[in-house]
Amino acid sequence: MDDKNPAPQTDALRCRTCGGALLQKNRLILFTVGMGMAASLVSALLFPLFWAPGIILGLAGAYLIVWAVLGKGRWCRNCKIFPPR
Ligand SMILES: [Zn+2]
Repeated sequence: MDDKNPAPQTDALRCRTCGGALLQKNRLILFTVGMGMAASLVSALLFPLFWAPGIILGLAGAYLIVWAVLGKGRWCRNCKIFPPR
């Protein structure tokens, strides 16, 4: 593979696995939404009726936070993953 391929700062980001174009999401929005969803986990602990949706929302929120922090808001459509760098 071409590891020496310089990654430009433009929207021409490439997936290291498949070489496909990467989507770039706003990390701040991802992080904010993720925190909001993770906060719903707290309300789920207070109200047992919300346990199932609360846990799902909390997991999805944690996923968004990991995506924003580790994945840098990038997403590969082909691999269905956020490529860690
Ligand atoms: Zn890929």
